[in-house]
Parts: sequence; structure tokens; C-alpha cells
Amino acid sequence: MITGRTEKIGILGWPVGHSLSPLMQNAAFESLHLDYVYVPLPVQAEYLAQAVVGLKALGFTGANVTIPHKVAIMAYLDEIDSSAQLIGAVNTIVIKEGKCIGYNTDAQGFIRSLTTKNVMITGKSAVLMGAGGASRAVVCGLIQHGIGQITVGARNLIKVQEFAKGFPTVTNIEGCDWNESIFNNRIKDCDILINCTPIGMSADNKEELPIIWDNVHSDTVVCDLIYNPPMTPFLKSAQNHGNKIINGAGMLVEQGALAFELWTGKPGPRKIMLEMLSKYM
Ligand code: NAP
Repeated sequence: MITGRTEKIGILGWPVGHSLSPLMQNAAFESLHLDYVYVPLPVQAEYLAQAVVGLKALGFTGANVTIPHKVAIMAYLDEIDSSAQLIGAVNTIVIKEGKCIGYNTDAQGFIRSLTTKNVMITGKSAVLMGAGGASRAVVCGLIQHGIGQITVGARNLIKVQEFAKGFPTVTNIEGCDWNESIFNNRIKDCDILINCTPIGMSADNKEELPIIWDNVHSDTVVCDLIYNPPMTPFLKSAQNHGNKIINGAGMLVEQGALAFELWTGKPGPRKIMLEMLSKYM
């Protein structure tokens, strides 16, 4: 029951109607009998600054931030945690003593979605497709966990090369055009292959990722950040080819559970969160 004492968490995005986070987070609060409520807060870009002030003015405890505000919101926050500084984007806000502090739980969320499935990262090689915001979080997570080599393939060579330059140089990271032979050569040797593009999200869109499956080793772990549908054509092809597959549901749950922990100080009930998501996917 919502009372005058209920702690308020929101999700800022535009649009937010499609987001499954309100269902997932409210189920989590309820399961632990926590007096919290999680509400959608659709905000257009031109009102983002006012929305951040509004969160403070209305006594919110925190928020999630989703597309298209993850980068732009950084300008309006009081502090940015190192997790978000490295990625250059915020997906979680905690409001403490009148200050909005920005965090990013996507990178650790992705990593935990692998490690909970016993996928090793240290010293391994990864090939990513796509060079957008989610790809950046994945690269940061992989670097923090000691990946040996990262290749990022994308349709736009200039963009992906710029993308690859934007990380600390401790890890060997290269950007390439995914239609060039170098990309397919890297796939032959890689341990983890990850789709970080939206290709496969919509059944109406018949675009395909540039993978020659005969080049993919059967030990390669194949991941898709997409969680809806849970089985994309890319994952289906990987499964048919005999590879271990991981979809984006684990990352969604893990990033949400880490945000839950930042707001409440309690571990997010991952099983409940996944069960609730599965009902709506
Ligand atoms: P984004 O910032 O818009 O980046 C998308 C990337 O994919 C860009 O490199 C873009 O290339 C490329 N791309 C888009 N459409 C393409 C197409 N038709 N052909 C070739 N390349 C294409 O998006 P994002 O935030 O990174 O999200 C990417 C995916 O990850 C989405 O499906 C999203 O739902 C998913 N995601 C999942 C989670 C989770 O918790 N599981 C979290 C975040 C994101 P250009 O730059 O050339 O356009």
C-alpha cells in the first residue's frame, strides 16, 4: 500500500511505456516487504534539467535513466560515481542529502550475466557487434575483468574506430568494419561473441548480423543484449550451430538488482525479478 512514507523511485526516459523495469522493481520491493514504489516518468529531452530538480523537490530516493537520456543527464547531476564516469553514461541515480549521484550498473550487470553462467573473462578474447551506449558499457565491464583482446565490428568504420580509441589502453581493443575480412578472422579465434545492436529486436525487420557461422568455433559463447524476444534469430543460429547462448534478460535483471541495492542497501531478489520479467517477455 502506498502511504505518505513510501519511498519513491522513478525511471526517466522517452518513451518509457515499453520498459519492464517498473514491473520488475515493484515485484522486488513487494517480495522483500519494502515500502518503496517505482514509477514511470516519461520526460522529453528539453525538460530533462527540470526533471532532475523535480526528483529532488518531490523527495524521490532515486531513479533509473533510460534511452535517450543516459548521457545527457550527466550534466545535471551533482556527482558522478567512477562506474558511470568510465562508461560516460548514467543509468541509476541515488538522491542523498539533496544531492543527485549518478551510477552505471550496466557494465557490472553484463559481467554478472556471464559469470553466473560460468563464463570466464580474464585473458579471453571478445568480438562485439555495434558501437553504441550498451556496447560501451560491455567493453568497460570486460576491461575491468581483465579481458585479453576486444574487437568491435560495426557498419560505420569511422565511428567504430573513434569508439575504440575512447578506452584506457591497458586492453588491446580495435574497431573494424564488420564487412571486412579482419572481422571474420577475429571471429574464428574469439571466446565470446556479443550482439550489441538492436538487430533481431523486431520480427518485421529482416536485417541480419554479418556472421559466417562456419567460422565460429563451437566453444565460443554467443551473447545477445536483446531480451525481448528472448530468442533472437542470431541466438537461434548460434544454438543450431552448437554454441552456448546467453540472452539480455540476465543483464537486465543484474543491472536492476545492482540499482535496487544502491537504493535500498539490500541485495536485489534476482529470482523474483527474472520471474516477473519472464511473464511479460
Ligand atoms: P545505441 O546506442 O543506439 O547503439 C546501437 C548500435 O547498433 C550502434 O552502433 C548502431 O550503429 C548499431 N545499429 C543499430 N541499428 C543497426 C542496423 N540496422 N545495422 C547495423 N548496425 C546497427 O543502442 P544501445 O543503447 O547501445 O542498445 C543496443 C541494444 O542493446 C538494444 O537492442 C538494446 O535493447 C540492448 N540493451 C540491452 C540491455 C539489457 O539490459 N539487456 C541494456 C542496454 C541495451 P550506428 O551508430 O551506425 O547507428
